[in-house]
Amino acid sequence: MMKKATTYIHAGMEPDPSTGAIMTPIYQTSTYVQEAPATHKGYEYARSQNPTRTALESALAAIENGKFGLAFSSGVAATDAVIKLLEPGDEVICANDMYGGTYRLFTKVFEKFGIQFKFTDTTNAENVKAALSAKTKLIWLETPTNPLMNISDIAAIAAISKAAGCLLCVDNTFASPALQNPLDLGADLVMHSATKYLSGHSDVIQGALVMNSSDLREKLYFIQKSCGAVPGPMDCFLVLRGIKTLGLRMKAHCENGKAIASWLRNHPKVGKVYWPGFEDHPNHTIAKKQMSDFGGMLSFELKNDSMEAAKKVLSSTHLFSLAESLGGVESLINHPSSMTHASIPRAERIRNGLQDGLIRLSVGIEDADDLIEDLEHAIG
Ligand SMILES: *Cc1c(COP(=O)(O)O)cnc(C)c1O
Repeated sequence: MMKKATTYIHAGMEPDPSTGAIMTPIYQTSTYVQEAPATHKGYEYARSQNPTRTALESALAAIENGKFGLAFSSGVAATDAVIKLLEPGDEVICANDMYGGTYRLFTKVFEKFGIQFKFTDTTNAENVKAALSAKTKLIWLETPTNPLMNISDIAAIAAISKAAGCLLCVDNTFASPALQNPLDLGADLVMHSATKYLSGHSDVIQGALVMNSSDLREKLYFIQKSCGAVPGPMDCFLVLRGIKTLGLRMKAHCENGKAIASWLRNHPKVGKVYWPGFEDHPNHTIAKKQMSDFGGMLSFELKNDSMEAAKKVLSSTHLFSLAESLGGVESLINHPSSMTHASIPRAERIRNGLQDGLIRLSVGIEDADDLIEDLEHAIG
């Protein structure tokens, strides 16, 4: 098997059959000419197949150690496709701390079609076991979680899921395939917001699913082409290009993440810092076991927990841009309770430990000293 560094460069890449172009061309076409009715080269209509997407889908499979990849027009479209495997009456067990858009899709779109979502603290695998019922068909994990950096034990929950005959899908957006590969730990499906680390340059919206089962691949491909949430060829090209530097970028994100987490923790005005690399992080042991490094995402609270104090920091950085999203080469600062997680009711946020003053950082690959100076100035 190829080593990761090689996979990022070569996965899915075949010289273009018509010209030998080393980069997969952007096949900007909606349809393909057929020789005779139903006699074609495997490509009929671009919602169903596009060669740029095919190249990307093989790359996605390879970098997640899976057999099949499917690309979607966004991360939430990939999640949407997974939930469409279910039927009214089915139950899903999911983390109580996760991306706000996933929560919104589950509760505001799918509950009305009769699918039940049970939110539980998945950092303790026993809670997942306790939430199982005869109707449970899917377990949805996000680890590390957005924004509190909680870690769930993928292998332990995969064992529970298998024993119960459920599917386990892991949102692996925060770790990226460079740091964690859920299929290797027993998950059935991996979901990515490719918008984030996979693309890596904040220039595209895209989602991905990776799996080993050909039966699941057939069902999800059917949903992909029937529902139509497919990415365009230009976007597929951009993600393919992003993947080539994933390994290098993640190394830099991890180094900078570590430097900033440690610096913040020693700052007299900073309260709690949420980063799974700290030995006293409640899930550090599992993080160390299932991740090869701890990534560039972290959150923190100020000792002065007023909204005003947090807002002052959020609007005083220069290198950290105030914006939603994450995983790009440039550093971003975000206020989950008013931005990415505003769609979760406040009472629920507080119950799950997401305080109003929490600040989330997506640490980019700039020079760590410059980033620290920027935060120093903003925190004062
Ligand atoms: C951004 C994000 C999503 C949603 O992906 P989009 O590409 O924005 O649709 C899902 N999960 C996590 C963890 C995310 O950060």
